[in-house]
Parts: sequence; structure tokens; C-alpha cells
Amino acid sequence: MARPTVTFLGGVREIGGNKILIEDGPDRILFDFGPSFSPRFEEYYVDYLQPRSTAPVKDLLEFGLIPRVEGLYSREALGDADLAWRPPEISGLFVSHAHADHAGYLRYVDPEIPVHVGTGTKTLLDAIEGSTAMHYGDHAWRPFQDRVPIRIGHLEVVPYPVDHSIPFAYGFLVRTREGTLVYTGDFRHHGPRAPDTHAFLEAAAAASPAALLIEGTRAGADRRRNLSEEGVRAGVDGLLADRSTLALACTYPRDVDRLTTLHRAAAEADRTLVVSLRTAHLLATIAPHFPAGAIPVPGTTDGVSVYGRKKKRYYNWEKPFLDDAIESAEVARHGARYLLALDLMNFPELIDLRPPRGSPFVHSMSEPFSEDDVDDRVMHNWLDHFGLEFHQMHASGHASGPELLEIVRSVGARTVYPIHTEHPEAFDAAGASVRPPELATRYAIGT
Ligand SMILES: [Zn+2]
Repeated sequence: MARPTVTFLGGVREIGGNKILIEDGPDRILFDFGPSFSPRFEEYYVDYLQPRSTAPVKDLLEFGLIPRVEGLYSREALGDADLAWRPPEISGLFVSHAHADHAGYLRYVDPEIPVHVGTGTKTLLDAIEGSTAMHYGDHAWRPFQDRVPIRIGHLEVVPYPVDHSIPFAYGFLVRTREGTLVYTGDFRHHGPRAPDTHAFLEAAAAASPAALLIEGTRAGADRRRNLSEEGVRAGVDGLLADRSTLALACTYPRDVDRLTTLHRAAAEADRTLVVSLRTAHLLATIAPHFPAGAIPVPGTTDGVSVYGRKKKRYYNWEKPFLDDAIESAEVARHGARYLLALDLMNFPELIDLRPPRGSPFVHSMSEPFSEDDVDDRVMHNWLDHFGLEFHQMHASGHASGPELLEIVRSVGARTVYPIHTEHPEAFDAAGASVRPPELATRYAIGT
């Protein structure tokens, strides 16, 4: 029988878009399946110009924006593409976590192919699908438990929870007939679940792996400032101390760690954290996966409320929160009582809230990649118009460049494939085992 192999069908010299095919004889499994954040996508498709719903895979294949794999896509997604539909030839698809660049193309996958996700990830995907325009499609879902092995033919996959900027993120050990592969997914170890990442990396080192597939989002020169999650907490604590106006913050909508940090900082300053209806829905939906009190849940936890944004029509998932929601007039009148987490898309609320000039605004998200970022310019236009004081306070979801090199050395894999990075060469400093992969090339495992 041929040797097991690994093929990178995405995430090569780009951030996001990991699509990793592992083959061992007749057994073929995929890890992650979403679009990359590569500027290449936006060379063809932008907000108003998207693949046709009648044949989306055909429209992505045209520009090489999705891999040409037989027996993977659904009949519906292929439409009349020149890649003909075939019965599934993939035995399982594993999703490391619910970020769009890892899960966003699930909807194109044949519904017969089993999709393996953490039990919490499944709940999170349901919450996102239920409250946004996102669709993941119908699948043979196979929710897995932490560290419980999944056998697929000759292959055995063990999911390990890791610390990342979204809950329920996993790294994997994949045992083939010729040795073990380690796939990190996206990870960090400066957040509240750092012990999970450490346990995963220890298990990885103990397996004497043939290959390490490691993300490198922050590899290479990174001029952006980053704190630990505790550093963000300290920063927000310092900012809220003896402030007498409304305080505002914006975060990524699924960064539950950050929402928890903001909730604790608000409580310390005798303020209530006010979140959007969508965030409230997300927190309430995933709450059963956490110990009581571990995350703020509107309606259950003290010190967190929902902002009752005026709308013409409310969705069913918004309605449970409306009775106790806080309206703009109350936030405007008693600003010092609140820390308002306001998404950029809801900035028109500032026209009603009219916070006093000099009120603090905490940008608790990544700094823009480029200097001419349109969203960043628009945000600053609004902040300047209302005279709000800008503060950058963020902890990345990813390990830093120096940390990545240290991890490569400590895991000690025979071959190291840097992926999910624009700078794979930055890993060269970790030694001769580093091999930046080429797109769609089969690498034998164990050689
Ligand atoms: Zn991620």
C-alpha cells in the first residue's frame, strides 16, 4: 500500500483558508474548509459581486479560489461546473474551530461526508447560523469530545482543546500507519485556556511526530501591538477608573474571552456591560457548555444587559431579550453606569447616544493590516466627529513569532510545515526540519 501523504489545498502563503488533505491508503480526511483572507479573493469577488448561488463552486474554481477535488462538493454547489459530481471520496472532514476562514465553505461540501466538530463548536455554528446570513449546509455531523480518539479506517484522530480567540478551538494528533501528524489549528497560550494549549503541545512532543503542521499568523515582522488577555483587563481597568461618562468598546462578536474580560472590568468599575442582541443570543446559546458564571449571560448573570436597538422588525431570536433591554435614552442619560460594546455596524446609534466629548472608546480588535484600510478610516471619522478618545487594547488569538519558533523546537517533529501564514520563511530560524509547503503537492509522511 502507498505511503500516507499530506497535501495542502489552501492556507499556503496566506492567512486562513487551511484545507489539509491526509491520505492513508483508501482513507482520505480533510482538516478545515473555509475561504482565506488573501487579497486574491478580492481581486475577483467583493461585497456586491459574489459567486452565483446556482453554481458557487464553479464560480470559485474559475479563478482557482477553491481546490479542484473530486468526490468532495455537493451536486448543488457544483451546478454545471466542469468538475463533475461524484459520490463522496472523502471519509471525514474535521473543523478545528468556528472561525469563517476554517468553516466558511462547509456549505459547498457533499452532505453525505461526515463532518467532525467539537460539541461546543456545533452549538456555536448553530448560534451563528441562527442569527446571521451564514449557512453551513446540511451534513452528517459527528460531534467529538475533548481527547476522545476518532477512528477512520487506518487513521486515528485525537482532538485536543487549545486556547484561541473563539471558544471550542482544537488542535489534532493524527496517527497514520507511518507516524503521527500534529495539526495546531489556530492557537495561542496567553489567554484563559493556556493550560489546554500546553497540554496539547506536550502530547504532541510525546508522540515524536513525523510532521508538525503549524499556523504562523504572526510569524515574521509584526508591527502591531499585542497584550495578553490579562493585559487587556489591566488596561481597561485603568481606563475606567474615575471616568464619569459613557465608555464604549468594540470586539470581535465571537471573542467570548474578551466579552468576559470586559464584563469583569465593567463590574470592577461599577458599570454594567451592555451587549448587542446578537451577542446576547450567542452567549445564551453556548452558556450550557460553560460552568455557571464563567461567561456573562444576559438574563442570568449580574452586570450584563442587552442594548435595545430600535428596529422596524425583530427576529424571533432577538425577542427573548427585548423586555429587559436598555434603550438609548437610558444609556445617554446615565452613561457612567455603562460600558457599551458597540459593533462598528451599529455606529449610527452614536447619533442618539451623543456621548460627551472625550468619552473613551476601546478598540479591542486587531489593528488593521494596512495603512489605507477603509473600515479603519471610517471608524476614525466617526470617532473624530463625536470627539471620542481612541484606545487600542487587544490580545491576539495567535502565538507570537518568537513563541512559534520555541514551540517548533520543543515539539521536535521530523518535518515542519508552516501554514496559515504569509511568512513561512520566518520559521527557517527554527532549524532544518522546516519545509514551507507548495500548494497541492503531496508530501509523504514518515520520510
Ligand atoms: Zn481562528
